Amino acid sequence: MTEQPGRRLLLVHAHPDDESINNGATMARYAAEGAHVTLVTCTLGERGEVIPPELAHLTGAALGQHRRNELAAAMSLLGVRDVRLLGGAGRYSDSGMMGLPDNDDPACFWQADVDEAAAHLVEVIHEVRPQVLVTYDDNGGYGHPDHIQAHRVAMRAAELAAETGWRIPKVYWNRVPRPVVEEAFARLREELPGTPFTKAAAVDDVPGVVPEERITTVIDGTAHAAAKAAAMRAHATQITVAEPCFVLSNELAQPILTTEYYELVRGERGTGERETDLFAGIGEAS
Ligand SMILES: [Zn+2]
Repeated sequence: MTEQPGRRLLLVHAHPDDESINNGATMARYAAEGAHVTLVTCTLGERGEVIPPELAHLTGAALGQHRRNELAAAMSLLGVRDVRLLGGAGRYSDSGMMGLPDNDDPACFWQADVDEAAAHLVEVIHEVRPQVLVTYDDNGGYGHPDHIQAHRVAMRAAELAAETGWRIPKVYWNRVPRPVVEEAFARLREELPGTPFTKAAAVDDVPGVVPEERITTVIDGTAHAAAKAAAMRAHATQITVAEPCFVLSNELAQPILTTEYYELVRGERGTGERETDLFAGIGEAS
């Protein structure tokens, strides 16, 4: 293990479970390498659909508290110790899926003032001084209001932090290259009969799918595949894992991607055709 005390990675996510699905292998890798990994989760996912029948009684604040515990368990499996809730626990509540009346709840994240929510994140940025920020694209990967808002808040906070003393050198969006996900689904359909699941999701159910050319950075998480699957499994209210795949509450199987992909959207790209390190080109002294 190489000590990299100077490396600081910040990830901004909408709900507990998004971090493990999108970046579980990346987080495990950097934590194992000694980087400081900070996760900021914007809501507790109080409106998530609960999969296990024995936990179906959990709704609202009780579900939020339960998911907070799931998040803590998942982060300990990934070796991530710095986990925060934007503005403190319960500051912003889950907005529910796009178009539902839940979106109008004044306490929900979708209704939050972007600058005000970003101010909470700016405090974290000034404290941690990350060299790398990871979040979603401007559609939140797949159009969920909390994911779109997490994107807006993260990008605005990066801007405000830069104006007040800390410019995050590199900003990435979570991505999945279309050919990779198509191939993974082809494999999944062959493997499906050996799993507890009956139907596969579609490629377009995966957030952040883009043409291969958009990918700037590939993190091979093979060595951390087991940790990623374990972290996903810790989110038992939201995810059922049966490696090599998992389902959400819609019961449609998706492949667990242990190689994770990114698009660099701010900052200077490291050398080589594609980066294999989010910190490529960043000096140790930063
Ligand atoms: Zn989410």
